[in-house]
Parts: sequence; structure tokens; C-alpha cells
Amino acid sequence: MIEIENVRKSFGQLEVLKGINLTVPKGEVLTVIGGSGSGKSTLLTCINGLETIDSGRIVVDGTDVHAKGTDLNKLRRKLGIVFQQFNAFPHLTVLENVTLAPRKVLGLSKAEADAIAVKQLTHVGLGDKLKVYPSRLSGGQQQRMAIARALAMSPDYMLFDEVTSALDPQLVGEVLDTLRLLASEGMTMICVTHEMKFAREVSDRVAFFHKGVMAEIAPPDELFGAPKDPDLRQFLAATH
Ligand code: ADP
Ligand code: MG
Repeated sequence: MIEIENVRKSFGQLEVLKGINLTVPKGEVLTVIGGSGSGKSTLLTCINGLETIDSGRIVVDGTDVHAKGTDLNKLRRKLGIVFQQFNAFPHLTVLENVTLAPRKVLGLSKAEADAIAVKQLTHVGLGDKLKVYPSRLSGGQQQRMAIARALAMSPDYMLFDEVTSALDPQLVGEVLDTLRLLASEGMTMICVTHEMKFAREVSDRVAFFHKGVMAEIAPPDELFGAPKDPDLRQFLAATH
């Protein structure tokens, strides 16, 4: 379970998270929507300890992420994160991209890491691309490789930050299908997304962020069907 308690975060004078309270239980698929600059990415980077927080607490399975003495490397193995920009190692094959962290961080043998990587790459539909270099993959395939790379660490939670936003429209569907597959398997996920149809279909709950505040959170039927917050109404009207 991820527990976010009254989290505040500023960059200089700009308060980006203004007291966020949110609990994500195991098995939940939470999508996060909201305008540019509303604090969505910052929330994800605070959850996995890439960013510090100014006050409040984030607790993942009982571990306070920002407490002194927390082993962030250990914590991050629980929390897979995939960003908008795919960051493949260009000089490594697809298989090598996925085995790198299991070998270096988990200390697995080549055979063990290969077996896990083949399994995860097959899972995301790239079982026939093992020996290919990332530059030969489409954007959608690169993003699926990034997902496989995160899954190869056997995370308990997956954080997705607009993973389809940099893709050509015809490649968005294949990546969303991969996310749907993970959701159907019970992966606990927080997905920041602009894909409203996807959010509606796949989420247990949807959170709307506006100017650093979580202005509304509800199951998708309720949030999209009967939005209460005026800024959410405006946001939804503008995205149609
Ligand atoms: P979102 O993902 O919702 O678009 P972000 O969390 O990326 O929003 O950013 C929220 C605000 O914080 C934006 O105004 C952004 O410019 C600012 N911001 C984000 N990261 C930094 C940083 N490292 N330094 C300074 N300002 C930042
Ligand atoms: Mg963002």
C-alpha cells in the first residue's frame, strides 16, 4: 500500500504539491489526470524518492520513503517507473537493456536475468525483438521495452508518467493494451495519462489534479459522469 499524507512540495517559490492525501491499496489501478504543471509528475517522483518533500509523509509498505536511513535503492525495486521519454541504452540490444538492472542491481546470473527478460519481453509482445537494437524499434515498441525493463525487477507497484504522450497516434493503442494487460493481472498501478477513454476503462479510481491540489478523486463513472469540481468540469470540457 502507498500512503501519501499531507504532502507538500515546493520548487523555490512555487508550491507544486499543496497537501496531498491519498492511499493506494494493493491491486488498485489509479489514474491521475490534470492540466500541465498541476503536479502529477512531481507526485510520482516523490513517491519513489527521486524528489524530496517539504512536509508530510509517503509510506510504501510501511517504509517512510523520505525518512533518514531509508534504503532508497531497495525501495525503488518495489516501484517500477516508466516515463514519457523512452530512455533505452542505444548500444545494448533489447534483451541486454532489460537484463542490465537485474544483473547489476539484483546480482542475477546472465542465465537467470535472460530468463526473466525473455519472459517479460514476450509478455509485452517483443519476444521476437530480443537481439534487435532499440533504434530499430518503433516508439511504441521502445515504450513496451521500457515497461518490460521495469517489470524485470519484479516490482510491487508500477508508476507510469504519460507513457503514450510522445508516441505517434497509431502507436498509442499497443502501449495502452500493455497497460490494460498489467491491470487485468492485478498489478498495482498509478498512471498519469491524458487518455481519458483509457482512464475510464481501466481505473478503479481517477484523481484530478489542479494547481497542486487533488481536487477530486472518484471511480471513473462518477468522476467522468458527474464531475463535481468546477475546474474538473472545465478540464473535461476542454479535452473533448
Ligand atoms: P505535471 O506533471 O502535472 O505537468 P509537474 O509535476 O511536472 O507537473 O510540474 C509542476 C510544476 O513544478 C510546474 O510548474 C513545473 O514547471 C515545476 N517543476 C517541476 N519540476 C521542477 C524542478 N525540478 N525545478 C523547478 N520547477 C519544477
Ligand atoms: Mg508531467
